[in-house]
Order: sequence, then C-alpha cells, then structure tokens
Amino acid sequence: MDRYSSIKEEIKGMCDIVELIGQFVQLKKTGKNYVGLCPFHSEKDPSFTVNPERQIFHCFGCKKGGDIFTFWMEYHNVSFFEALKDIAERYNIDIKGLSGDKGEERAKLLEINEMAASFYRQMLYDPVEGKKAREYLRKRNIDDAVAKEAGLGYAPDRWDSLYKLFLNRHIDIRLAINAGLLVERDAGDGCYDRFRNRLIFPIFDIRGRVVGFGGRTLGDGMPKYLN
Ligand SMILES: [Zn+2]
Repeated sequence: MDRYSSIKEEIKGMCDIVELIGQFVQLKKTGKNYVGLCPFHSEKDPSFTVNPERQIFHCFGCKKGGDIFTFWMEYHNVSFFEALKDIAERYNIDIKGLSGDKGEERAKLLEINEMAASFYRQMLYDPVEGKKAREYLRKRNIDDAVAKEAGLGYAPDRWDSLYKLFLNRHIDIRLAINAGLLVERDAGDGCYDRFRNRLIFPIFDIRGRVVGFGGRTLGDGMPKYLN
C-alpha cells in the first residue's frame, strides 16, 4: 500500500463518519442508521442516510453517496487532496510525508504567499518603512480599517527585502520564483524582489487564501500596476 492510501485508511480508522457529518448535518438515529436533511439537495423529509457500520453516506433523493472524503469534497467543494488534508488536520494526523504531490506544492505556494503578505503588511505599518505608503493611502482617503480589511501591504524600496526573509526562513526559492515574488538574476546569481516600492494588494481565493499579489508603484517605477 502506498503512503497515500495508507494515510487514507489511517484517517478512516480515526474518524467516525457520523461524528464528522454530524458537524454539518443534523442527524437522528433511526435503527442502525442515522438520517437527516440532505445538504446536497433541497428536501423536507430526510432521505440522507449515514451508515456507521459501513462508514458511508447515501441520499435516496439525489443519489449522492460515498465515504468521509466524498462527503468533504462535495460539501466544501474541494479536491480529494484538500479533503484529505483538511480532515487530517482536524484529527491531528500528520500527512507531511506525502511528497511529490501537486497538492503539496500548492500548499507550499500558499504558505509562501501568506508569508509574503504578512511581511508586506508588517512593512506598511512599520513606522519608518511604511511612512510613504501610509501617506499615499491617507491622501486617497483610504482609512486604516479599509486597508486592513483588504490586507494591504507595502513592498520596501529595496532589491532584497523579501529575498532575505525567504533565505532566512529556508524557503524553497524556486517556489518563490514560481509564485512571482522573486525574479532570478540573469547570471544565475541569486534573485531580487519583484515588488519594490509598491503598495501591495493581495488577491484572495474564495476560501480567503492569498493566491497572488498586485502592486501599485509609489515612485516613477514602470509599470504603474504589476500583477
Ligand atoms: Zn440528496
């Protein structure tokens, strides 16, 4: 059994489907099974059934059914890998051993983006570093609450502020380049920050995760906007 399926089995062994689904759907015990109103279609009489013995669910109305992973994917509209990760997290099961997976690379990219977003925010509110950017916001009547809500940040007017942070934290530089945060120098001589002296607008996905950045220059740098 590969690591992937063994983790799947491990999670299944630790997680009870009635308990898991019960967090999202009100279930009532009926004989051997539990029933509730189906979260996947609209109904007045419960036809959504959870079978604890077989650890599966089935809806007699819309015919949806499966195990905890199917439920999680359908209910939260995520991929199988994300479902695996979310459930593992919830039950404190370590899945870091899963390597070479696209999902893991994506998770690392998100982590890098979060780190950058947090660094840029910190710079915006730094008394010295962020002074110019905060003045810019004030002039445009963007108040603090709005700036914070949007997660705005500031990329300092230097070539290596984010690069140094990533090096210090042993971040995979290749991924930071893929994320569009660093640019490789031609001579293969390290990298430099892509965003410099720019007001930073993080771009969020529907789950509130930072998936990219836009930057508006505060100087004469071109282009005015960088994505
Ligand atoms: Zn249904």
